[in-house]
Amino acid sequence: MKQFVDDTIVAQATPPGCSGLGVVRLSGKRAVDCLRSVFSSLSPSSDQYEARKIYYGWISSPESKIDNVLAWVAYGPHSFTGEDAVEISCHGGRVVIGAIVEELIRVGARLADPGEFTKRAFLNGKIDLMQAEATIDLINAKTMMALKSANAQLDGSLSKAVAEIREKLINVLAAIEASADFPDEIEGGVGLDEVRSISIEIEKLLESADQGRILRMGARVAILGKPNAGKSSLLNALLDNDRAIVTDAPGTTRDTIEEMASVGGIPVIYIDTAGMRKAGSRAEELGIERTKKEIERADIVINLFDGTGDEISTEEIETARILKNKNVIPVINKTDILDKIDLEKVYNKKEIIKISALKKMGIGKIKEEIVLRLSINEGSAENGFINERQKAALEKAKESLVLVLSGFSERVPVDLLSIDFRAAIVHLGELTGEEVSGEVIDRIFSRFCVGK
Ligand code: GDP
Repeated sequence: MKQFVDDTIVAQATPPGCSGLGVVRLSGKRAVDCLRSVFSSLSPSSDQYEARKIYYGWISSPESKIDNVLAWVAYGPHSFTGEDAVEISCHGGRVVIGAIVEELIRVGARLADPGEFTKRAFLNGKIDLMQAEATIDLINAKTMMALKSANAQLDGSLSKAVAEIREKLINVLAAIEASADFPDEIEGGVGLDEVRSISIEIEKLLESADQGRILRMGARVAILGKPNAGKSSLLNALLDNDRAIVTDAPGTTRDTIEEMASVGGIPVIYIDTAGMRKAGSRAEELGIERTKKEIERADIVINLFDGTGDEISTEEIETARILKNKNVIPVINKTDILDKIDLEKVYNKKEIIKISALKKMGIGKIKEEIVLRLSINEGSAENGFINERQKAALEKAKESLVLVLSGFSERVPVDLLSIDFRAAIVHLGELTGEEVSGEVIDRIFSRFCVGK
């Protein structure tokens, strides 16, 4: 899909504000000409820019000098975008960078849209759509493990896996169409086993979607428990600081509080919920509604109990029942004072963790349990994980293959069978970008920052 764009774009690639250095980049046919128009190189003094050589000199407007900078060029197709490209390292002030960008626009460049450099790299066939999306993941990575997963995708390992599956399907379809004159052979199973095994491969990729979401957005761990059980104290202990407000009055955390931390390399969002006790006021009622929603969204629920309490209440038994299908870690708090509450009615003794949020005892055990339950590890991150968009396309491909398989068993004619085959091939192409609408492409790149 080669589609070199005619105009030349410019943008600041570093965030706005004051910093030691800033970067301005250009891409397009006139990138090097634009540089030549505003830059006089002192060392080397030539303006015949060699690829990847550093040039030092002044950028000036017709009126005055703007900044002394370092600049280098790359010629297409040997650049990130596949076009001629220029990078300028200047001083990182708003006025300096603003003036440089303005000057480059005056001599013929236009301000880039968000993500337009990466979009050009995609349109010029330098990277596929999954690699472009990995670039966003890399920039937004919240932990080293998320970074590792983004890099794996950037390397193209996921793209390769998808392309191989697609290739296999194309081959099976060709074999089936070739045997169209001999329908008996299709019944005999031309392609049937291959389609089955391809479905399994797609299933495996789909399984990684949840882990991908967690690495990109963070796993949601909701802390649930009666007022005063120590939810805010536990949140603080887990974060190892005092960001959430702790008070003695029951029902003070009426709204939910969210904080993110890295737990064993996995980004985790802890949510201190309002709790589930009967509402005394409208505000508490709203808090309970939000708690229910948080429980639904949560990957893990920490069900917290006060160790100094006696029997667990009917409300707590009811809550434990609601949580039955969730991934729950039962925790007894305040064991520095007492550990007399009996949870064995609702939880298996072996899974209960005993802690003191106040004395920060047992907190490590909770973190270990969270990592264990999320079952994401360094090894699995090495292959990269699919995102929501890719998941939706893979699911459609899988649905089409289900139709293909039932077509096989119902012995439908080859031309009908190929319709579903082709649909699956198209959906797989949506992942890497071979078969994707301009609208989808625009939506993906609009999530980028300007200058990327
Ligand atoms: P929440 O309403 O569930 O958020 O509970 P808080 O975190 O606000 O704690 C309620 C009270 O219990 C506060 O006075 C805390 O200091 C106290 N508390 C919390 N955890 C512990 C603990 O492990 N040991 C003791 N002794 N007190 C605790």
